[in-house]
Amino acid sequence: MRPSILFPLFKTVTALPGLGPRLGKLVEKLAGPHVVDLLWHLPCGVIDRRFSPKIAGAPNGRIATLTVRVDSHAAPANPRHPYKIRCTDETGVLELVYFHVRGDWLTKQIPVGRTVVVSGKVEWFHDTPQITHPDAVVPLESKDEIEAVEPVYPMTAGLPAKTLRKAVRSALAELPELPEWQDPAWLARRQWPVWRDALRRAHCPEDEADLSALSPARCRLAFDELLANQLALALVRQQQRRLAGRTVAGDGRLRARALAALPFSLTGSQAAALEEIYADMAADRRMLRLLQGDVGSGKTVVALMAMLNAVEAGAQAALMAPTEILARQHAETLAPLCKAAGVDIALLTGRDKGKARQAVLDRLASGELPLMVGTHALFQEDVAFKDLALAVIDEQHRFGVHQRLQLSGKGRAVDVLVMTATPIPRTLTLTAYGDMDVSRLTEKPAGRKPVQTVTVALDRLEEVVQGIHRKVAEGARAYWVCPLVEESEQMDLAAATERHAFLRATFGDRVGLVHGKMRGPDKDAVMADFAEGRLDVLVATTVIEVGVNVPEATVMVIDHAERFGLAQLHQLRGRVGRGEKPSSCLLLFDPHLTETARARLKTLRDTEDGFVIAEEDLRLRGAGEVLGTRQSGLPEFRMADLAVHGELLAAARDDARLITERDPDLATPRGQALRTLLYLFERDAAAKTLRSG
Ligand code: ADP
Ligand code: MG
Repeated sequence: MRPSILFPLFKTVTALPGLGPRLGKLVEKLAGPHVVDLLWHLPCGVIDRRFSPKIAGAPNGRIATLTVRVDSHAAPANPRHPYKIRCTDETGVLELVYFHVRGDWLTKQIPVGRTVVVSGKVEWFHDTPQITHPDAVVPLESKDEIEAVEPVYPMTAGLPAKTLRKAVRSALAELPELPEWQDPAWLARRQWPVWRDALRRAHCPEDEADLSALSPARCRLAFDELLANQLALALVRQQQRRLAGRTVAGDGRLRARALAALPFSLTGSQAAALEEIYADMAADRRMLRLLQGDVGSGKTVVALMAMLNAVEAGAQAALMAPTEILARQHAETLAPLCKAAGVDIALLTGRDKGKARQAVLDRLASGELPLMVGTHALFQEDVAFKDLALAVIDEQHRFGVHQRLQLSGKGRAVDVLVMTATPIPRTLTLTAYGDMDVSRLTEKPAGRKPVQTVTVALDRLEEVVQGIHRKVAEGARAYWVCPLVEESEQMDLAAATERHAFLRATFGDRVGLVHGKMRGPDKDAVMADFAEGRLDVLVATTVIEVGVNVPEATVMVIDHAERFGLAQLHQLRGRVGRGEKPSSCLLLFDPHLTETARARLKTLRDTEDGFVIAEEDLRLRGAGEVLGTRQSGLPEFRMADLAVHGELLAAARDDARLITERDPDLATPRGQALRTLLYLFERDAAAKTLRSG
């Protein structure tokens, strides 16, 4: 349960003064529903109002705070002209300028004869300094109401900046004093403030340096967040380790037959990964291993060998893919090899219904069926295994930790192997999987050719089409991928349909269209037409539809490439270059592209190393954007910026490891404080793995 000391931080934002239901909604949209979310919403700028010159000494363009006497008001005859208020001090005249403001309101607020304090940006017009719409005008006796240094927050439309500042300030005023969860020696070495001071300092920057992600206060807060993340992962893992494991070690007879049926021999990295996997499976604890490798690096064979190992030992294994097409493709790839090994394998997707489905489930429950490939349909409640020992999850960033655990719940001490095709930067792997064991396939299987990548502005579309037309005439097949923008699937579909129609002018009925809204069998039919050469060009709306293996396809066109993540582009490109002939990838981009966007595409042109691309993507866009984090199940951070705080992440991992070794139940005083940290960052699930205390 959440410790009561945190209750004030988990009140809804509307508990803060000035935030009713309407503004509360805006704050929620901007920062999140709870007071603590607002506290994690850090300033992005600072306005220094401490400069208070005399009127004559106020330079053009600078923010200044001046003490002046109000001399006279001049209301315009024409309401579209500005309303002006003349003020003076002993050095000169200052005009306050207002547009579209009612004069009677101004005469009340700023009465003639009063001495007032004005703050805003000074601009000189024809020898007269002016402030247009001052940020603040207060009577002299209330001058403390003007904040000397004012934080500037990332905003959302409709929410007044002042309201937000006030809400944050009152949240800061009521900050509880939390027990210190960081190691005191580490804090001292880093010269970081305690949590409460760090938060206050982060919200009250004095200058630009305080806004830096590397300022002591922000580093402290980032480290807290990273430690909560790493500790949560370490605890979940520790709990899994505590659960009994089992020894799975086959005699190799099925694997030998499957290997003999392969038209190639394993690469060094495939063999090395398998050694690690077999060792994990043989060990008396649960395997939790990530198999990372580029598209085409040969993960499927590795998965098959691991699964056959389980079958040799008398148990069952399952392979789960994120989409129906991929599941089907896996089943098709594996079928002949399983046949050679003399092992049955079946496919289960959401499309299977009725008697046929029930027959598969019966054979699965009786143990007659040793191997299973499927989609998330494998999670359905009535899917029961007799003895599931290994779950392989072809993740492609579409499943979260939760689903991983769900499948492993379908057996006794299930070993889990997660495969990802997108190379994730080391730092992101850590945040998503913690200290999970990792095997990487770094070698490309023999025979793979490099893909020639070019970038072309969309205003040269005609040339591109003619170029492809020539290649098709020589026997090539081409993918044409159109981007998917989450918010408007409808519009994307329209764009893809339009592109398809446009290409028909050149390719006639040799160009097909496949998209996510199509029914499964229709999709399959189009895919099959392309795979078997009845179509030359395949227009596709999403990444998913091209998650297939067509070795004859040698051209990949990516429309509006700037709208994809680098890793996604890289993955798409991996769909070509699989056959004998040289392949090419054309990245079509909007001619009005920003510098950063150009730099991103250039990276892709310059290298085919997925890990280099992933690191570069992280550097250019920040972790939040990499891989389309939101859909990927990778955690997002509020204060930590992995492009900057990578080194802190490594330290947090080491710290989490030490903590779980020395104080596995978080029972020491520091351990107790760390429990508070977990709840503060809403890692409740991890905190609940602990015994109470
Ligand atoms: P991934 O799942 O990692 O994207 P796949 O397992 O689909 O890659 O393999 C891509 C292609 O490479 C397949 O056609 C597969 O048969 C082939 N392949 C796998 N391993 C090797 C190898 N060691 N040597 C040659 N070809 C291989
Ligand atoms: Mg694959």
